[in-house]
Amino acid sequence: MPELPMNFHRLIEAFPEPGCVVCNLTERDVNRFLDSHLYEYVNTPETHANIRASRGLCATHSGHLVEFGASVLGITILHAVIMDELLKTAAEPNRATSTFGRLIGSNGNSLANRLEPTGECMACQALERAESQHVNSIAEHINEQEMYDAYAASNGLCLPHFRRALRAAPNGKTADVLTKLQLPKWRALKAELDMLADKYDVNHNDEAVGAEADSWRRALIMVSGNRDVFGVRRKH
Ligand SMILES: [Zn+2]
Ligand SMILES: [Zn+2]
Repeated sequence: MPELPMNFHRLIEAFPEPGCVVCNLTERDVNRFLDSHLYEYVNTPETHANIRASRGLCATHSGHLVEFGASVLGITILHAVIMDELLKTAAEPNRATSTFGRLIGSNGNSLANRLEPTGECMACQALERAESQHVNSIAEHINEQEMYDAYAASNGLCLPHFRRALRAAPNGKTADVLTKLQLPKWRALKAELDMLADKYDVNHNDEAVGAEADSWRRALIMVSGNRDVFGVRRKH
């Protein structure tokens, strides 16, 4: 029997929770990462080097920092470091070394380019690591009875994480197992959505709404994923 990954039992425990298990565990892992970087690691040279290079965290993770109101000191220290980096960068001489660059003189592009991040948001990196571990463990161990049963009894994966799981599957047979587990989730959700839409119809609006009442909310998560994991779909 292949050795079980570290997160195997966490996945089994978290599968019954509402929503996508990968979204749920990844969100928790990133919150823990942010928490520890605001307390234990706030003064380590590594954290400072990372935060300087990335020009702070992305907007989503900066927003999360506010939720850790208890460590205002941590946010304060890290942002003083970022301000120091921005001021140093702005004070650097223009590095337009080409003759053409010197001829046309400096414009805003030069400073804008130097102010660009040279590293990724630390929390986004932690998110990517956690997400890969969870997706890979599901894809590689779906044939373990415990994992299979947990998936079968769950709401299924959100669409972006299902795509990742399919791509992480070690072979076509495993991808088929994942598909056979996921499709009934979509069928059940579609049936609920159809039922809810029918009940909104003026001809049926006297019918009582049952468990399908919040299917539209569940559908948002199952199609687009958790907003704290996927955020806005833009690059710049
Ligand atoms: Zn997900
Ligand atoms: Zn981020």
